[in-house]
Formats: sequence, structure tokens, C-alpha cells
Amino acid sequence: MRENKENDARYDLIVIGGGPAGLTAAIYAVRSGLNTLLIEKGICGGFLNEIPRIENYPGFKQISGMELASRLKEHAADYVEIREIEEVLRLSQHRGSNQKSSDSFSSSADFIVQTTKQSYVAKALIICTGTRHRKLGVVGEDEFLGKGVSYCATCDGFFFKNKRVIVVGGGDSAATQALFLKNMGCDVTIVHRRDSLRAGKYLQRMIDRAEIPILWNSEVKEIKGSDRVECVVITERGNEREIPVDGVFVAIGEVPNSELASHLNIECDDSGYIVTDRNQRTNVERVYAAGDVSGGVRQVIVACAEGAVAAMSAYEDITSEP
Ligand code: NAP
Repeated sequence: MRENKENDARYDLIVIGGGPAGLTAAIYAVRSGLNTLLIEKGICGGFLNEIPRIENYPGFKQISGMELASRLKEHAADYVEIREIEEVLRLSQHRGSNQKSSDSFSSSADFIVQTTKQSYVAKALIICTGTRHRKLGVVGEDEFLGKGVSYCATCDGFFFKNKRVIVVGGGDSAATQALFLKNMGCDVTIVHRRDSLRAGKYLQRMIDRAEIPILWNSEVKEIKGSDRVECVVITERGNEREIPVDGVFVAIGEVPNSELASHLNIECDDSGYIVTDRNQRTNVERVYAAGDVSGGVRQVIVACAEGAVAAMSAYEDITSEP
């Protein structure tokens, strides 16, 4: 483990991840007086940028995810220093020379955050690294990524106007993406491995109303083509057939981006989500997690709320240390 150097930039709090949870955490942290930095490996907004339409974020009857992300970032940037396109590679904890040598770290030990650009020192961390798309894991999925395979209807739907596409999955994401693609003018079919959708009733009614066909009890086994996707191999109750398609939108859930947790022995559950208490504290002192990476109800409003709670916990813990 590297020691922190004198010239490492120092903060009270570093927020890792610039989605709704991280941006809200940063606003609350700075407003309570914590010297805070937010680091985001891409651009702020996270998955919010991929949501075509949000109708359940209070105060906005209807807003696109990208618009909400941009408003959140603009708001947060009034308070906090945001570093985008900078990835956190390594987290460690530094025991200062005035701290006793022991196997467990002192509660006042600082954290070292090593990124692709430099390293920082912080008294506390909030991890808001979100999730990434779950993959189907079938032949052709990686090969045709960007050539007919997509995980984001908002980003890529336009290229499939008037074309045949399938959306794989039965949850809210699959329903939302299918509706977006239909609206875009695509010839869309949902392919779902069960005989009923997991998506909310409201979305199910919209799927019915839009007359989007659903292939029930069906699984994609392979994605085929030459330069681009041309067809998918589907099995339905043991029967295999090929369906010609131009696009495959995969919407089968998420997996947490919690790899950094292992650097500090932060507890995760069996699915890899970071375990927190109701105040977003992890098992490691002065490390918090908020938003999708900590599991639970996956909604923008929840991510924001958890970010606020995490920031208040960090403030409480930092200011109560002797
Ligand atoms: P999800 O609710 O976990 O649904 C994933 C879907 O994909 C399920 O239908 C699942 O099938 C299917 N699936 C999983 N692995 C598969 C595989 N290997 N092959 C084929 N199908 C597979 O995920 P989500 O739709 O991304 O939603 C995640 C969370 O975000 C939910 O809490 C949801 O409410 C929220 N969300 C909300 C909104 C909204 O409020 N409008 C929009 C998007 C997402 P089974 O049903 O068989 O398990």
C-alpha cells in the first residue's frame, strides 16, 4: 500500500460516482461544510442519461433522464468540484505516523484514493458507483455490440427507425425501452423468458395499448449476422427457430459496480451490492454507499435520498471525531 504524500490533494470527503446519488451527496456535504470532491469515471448522470422518459420524479410530471441529469449536475457544480473522465483505480487506508501500529486501522486513518490522474487523501468516502448492464452471455452479443446489439434505447434507438428490433427482458427497463422504440417508429417485439412480465402494471397497460407483441417463454440463444445483426436464434419451450431482426436491445437487469469495495474489505451481499445500514454506513468506518450500488429500490428519487443521508452521516461522523 502506498503512503500518502505531502502533495496529495486533501478533502474531508470524496464522493465516487456522479449519478443522482453522488451528485445529491455532494450538494448536501458541501452545504454542511465538508470540503468535498466528486470523481466520476465518465460523465455525470450515470444510467439517468439512458432513461428516455421519467414520470415519477416528484416535481417533474415528465422529464427525460438526460435533462434531469444535466439539471442535477448543474446544481451540484454550484457547490462542489467535479472531476469527470477520471476513474478511481484503488482505495486504501493510510495510518499516519501519530497512529499506533496495529492490525486494524485507527478510526482516524485517512483514505487514499488513487485515480487514473492522481491521488487524493480524504477523511471519508461515499461510494455511488451504480450498476452496469447485465449481459445475456450468448454468442454474438459482444461481437455485434454497436452493430445491432445495444443496452440503451435512448442512445441507439434512432438508428433503428422503421427497422425490426427485439427487446429482451420482462422488467420495467424492457417495457420502457420497448415503448421508446415503438414511439421511435421501430417494429418492436419483446422476448421474455416467462409467461408474464415483471414490469409494473402501468407499463404493462401501455405495452398492451401500443400493441407491442411479446414472445413468451422465449430465450435468445444466439445473435447472428455478417457485418451487422441479421437474426436471432430463439428457443421457445425447447423449440428453436431463427427470427430476422436488425437490432437486439438487451434489458435484463443490472449488476453492481462494487469492485472498489474489496480494496477496503467493505461488506457486500451475495449479489455484490454494498451492504449499508439505514444511514448508508458500511461496515468500514467513514465509508458510505448510496444509490444503485447499495441495492434496494432502484429509483432516481431513492438514489438522491440515499445520497443525502450518506452525506449527513459523513458530516456527523467527521465532526464528532475528537
Ligand atoms: P429487473 O426488474 O431485474 O428485470 C430484469 C428482467 O430480465 C426480468 O424480467 C428477468 O426475468 C429478465 N432476465 C434476467 N436475466 C435474464 C437472462 N439471462 N435472460 C433473459 N431474461 C433475463 O431489471 P430492470 O427492468 O432493469 O429494472 C431494475 C430496477 O429498475 C427495478 O427495480 C425497476 O423497477 C427499476 N426501473 C424502474 C423504472 C420506472 O420506474 N419506470 C424504469 C426502469 C427500471 P425474470 O422475470 O424471469 O426474472
